[in-house]
Amino acid sequence: MPLPPLETLFRREVLAMSAYHVADASNYIKLDAMENPYTWPADIQQAWLEHLKSCPLNRYPDPEAKALADAVRRSNAIPDASAILLGNGSDEIIQILLMALPSTAAVLAPEPGFVMYKQIALSLGLRYRGVPLAAESFDLDLPAVLAAIEAEKPAAIFLAYPNNPTGNLFDPAAIEAILAAAPGVVVVDEAYAPFADASFIEQLPQHDNLLVMRTVSKLGLAGLRLGFLAGPPALLEQLNKVRLPYNINCLTQATAGFALEHPQFLLDQTRLIREQRSVVMQALQAIDSVKAYPSAANFILFRTLTKPADAVFASLKQHGVLIKNLSPQGGLLENCLRATIGKPEENQAFLQALKAALA
Ligand code: PMP
Repeated sequence: MPLPPLETLFRREVLAMSAYHVADASNYIKLDAMENPYTWPADIQQAWLEHLKSCPLNRYPDPEAKALADAVRRSNAIPDASAILLGNGSDEIIQILLMALPSTAAVLAPEPGFVMYKQIALSLGLRYRGVPLAAESFDLDLPAVLAAIEAEKPAAIFLAYPNNPTGNLFDPAAIEAILAAAPGVVVVDEAYAPFADASFIEQLPQHDNLLVMRTVSKLGLAGLRLGFLAGPPALLEQLNKVRLPYNINCLTQATAGFALEHPQFLLDQTRLIREQRSVVMQALQAIDSVKAYPSAANFILFRTLTKPADAVFASLKQHGVLIKNLSPQGGLLENCLRATIGKPEENQAFLQALKAALA
């Protein structure tokens, strides 16, 4: 039998989408994906390898990852009254949540924002509504968000706090107002929590519709794929039905559990990244031909003022430095580039290459 036309096999939205693109970073100084640039100290690595020997690879992992879930609760100070759900990265958490929504539901998120909210919503055939952030401050445009809530009655709203790709923390009072107005759930996505001094975790018991999502990716464990959602038990009980059994594999359970028992080296690395964020920010602020935006994350968004960002991005690559070019997204991100904070020598290489590109 010949295959029928793709239009009859797949949803229109899927055919219209592009796959999530990850740039080939081989041989570049890699400052494009908000990863922690540091590897593990040798003694910790040795102890971890020993620990992995206790992983029975012939058996399915604990389907609920109970030991890891307890460790995650403790290390993130999740209130006792809240439940948690673990995912294969927070990407999977977004998917689990959206899979549980009715097919007619709408999903709302500020833009520019993390692209997977839209990507996953559309791939599941849900309606998606992006609401532009205020120009230049990149803060929430609260009247616009409230009007969109009124019009769309979204079942889920995503607010990244700090926001990717802009790096800022939205006004918490605006988030409170959105929580009060939302007819559905509000996910405060704290992927960059290790680099920010603000969080909604403590507010969890005060709201029936608040979910806080976090990941270990930016902390330094992006290769593991582990995220979690915390919130009201009644909500997470439903989401847990949609989660695939064994979604957290045994190597991830063992490794993340081990890392959370040895938090100091990751905290030290996070401190170094935060210090370097100030160094890079000051250097960018001293360059007249770019405008750098404040960041509470492990990256800095900046706009090129005298040369097209596309040309600056290409020149950086020629100098062996890969950052992220957001300019193709247009709108508020025209001529914007995003640089992840790396090791001191990587950041210096980036800054030098940037000055050369702008000259
Ligand atoms: N939320 C935000 C705001 C992000 O920027 C990212 C990754 N770039 C994620 C979630 C996804 O994280 P994970 O690696 O846990 O899937």
